[in-house]
Amino acid sequence: MPTPFTTQDFADRMTRAAQAAAGAGLAGLVITPGPDLVHLTGYQPTAVTERLTALVLPTDGVATLVVPKLERPDAEHATGAPALQLADWTDDMDPYQVLRPLLDPAGRYGISDSAWAMHLLGLQAALPGSSFTSLTSSLPMLRAVKGDDELERLAAAGAAADATYQAILTVPFAGRRECDIAADLAARLLESGHSQVDFTVVGSGPNGANPHHEAGDRVIRPGDTVVLDFGGLKDGYGSDTTRTVHVGADVAEQVREVHEVVLRAQQAAFEAVRPGVACQEIDRVARAVITEAGYGEYFIHRTGHGIGITTHEPPYMVEGEEQPLVPGMCFSIEPGIYLPGRFGVRIEDIVTVTGSGGRRLNNTPRELAIVQ
Ligand code: ZN
Ligand code: ZN
Ligand code: ZN
Repeated sequence: MPTPFTTQDFADRMTRAAQAAAGAGLAGLVITPGPDLVHLTGYQPTAVTERLTALVLPTDGVATLVVPKLERPDAEHATGAPALQLADWTDDMDPYQVLRPLLDPAGRYGISDSAWAMHLLGLQAALPGSSFTSLTSSLPMLRAVKGDDELERLAAAGAAADATYQAILTVPFAGRRECDIAADLAARLLESGHSQVDFTVVGSGPNGANPHHEAGDRVIRPGDTVVLDFGGLKDGYGSDTTRTVHVGADVAEQVREVHEVVLRAQQAAFEAVRPGVACQEIDRVARAVITEAGYGEYFIHRTGHGIGITTHEPPYMVEGEEQPLVPGMCFSIEPGIYLPGRFGVRIEDIVTVTGSGGRRLNNTPRELAIVQ
C-alpha cells in the first residue's frame, strides 16, 4: 500500500486549484462528486444521488463543502475534511439557497464537467448574475501534473497491468471467444491489485480494426492478430496498456510490416517527450512515421490521453493541443493502424515526463508476441 495522502496534501491541492482559478479569471470553483472532488478533498459520497453535494472553492476565502445532512458523518471522515468548512442541508431546504451566500453573485465559476444539469440550473436560478464554465474548458490542466506520491501510484498500476499482460500470454487463445480472454484479463487485473477494471478490449482478426471494439462472441482462430487493451484503477490511480499479439507463429508479411511501423511510431513519439514540447508534437511525430510508411489514413485516432485518478483525462496528445509538456504529466502514447475488415495493431504505454525526457510506466516487450 502506498503512503496515504494527508490532510495537508489536500489543503495544498485546494490552494493550487484556487490559484489556478484566479489565474484563469474565475471567482472560484464549484466541484461536484467525481474525480475532481476526490482529488481536492479525498471525499467520494457512497452514492451520487439527486441530493446536492458541492465543494465551493473561492479564489479568496475558505473552502466549503455543502452536503446533505444525512451524509455529513461520511464527509467528516474524508481526509481533506479538516482543511474545509462543512455546511449541511436537510430535505426540507432548497440546497441552492445554502450555496448562494458562498458565491459571488456576479462571479464567474468553473464547475465540474459532470455536475448534473439540474444542479447547474438550480445555481443559475439562485444566482442569475453569476456565470459558469466547465472545468475542462477553463482549467484543463488542473490534475495534469502529478506529484511524486501520485507518480508512485501510477507506476504501481502500470506494473500491475504489465503483470496482467505477461500472464495473459500463457493462456490459450485459439478456439476461445474474445469475451473469454477479456474475462481472463479482468481476473488478472484484479489479482494484480486493481480494485476496478475499466476496460478489456480484445479485438481479434477484423475486430481489431475497431479501436474501441470491446470483446464479443467471435471465436479466435490461428492466424488472428489480437489487440489487447486493458486497464483500471489500483489504489485510486489508473492503468492502460495495449499490446498486439498473434495466434500461432505463422505471421503474414503485412501483419509483421504493420506491427513494425506502429512500433517505430510509438518509439519515435516516446523519444520526442521532454519538457516544453507541445502535446500536439507527440501526435505529429507518431503520425509522421505511420504516414511515411503509407498507412496515414488508417491511424484514425489521437496519439494519447492523460491518465491519473481517471483513465482518460487531459492532456490529450492531439493536433491543436499546444499545451507544453511539464514534468509530472502522465499520458498514453498509443499509435495504431486499423485495416478495415482485416486486422488492427496498437501499442500503448503510459509515459511520464521527467526533467529531461520521458519515462515509461509500462515495460513489457512491445514486439509482436506469439500466443497459442
Ligand atoms: Zn481509447
Ligand atoms: Zn488503452
Ligand atoms: Zn489509452
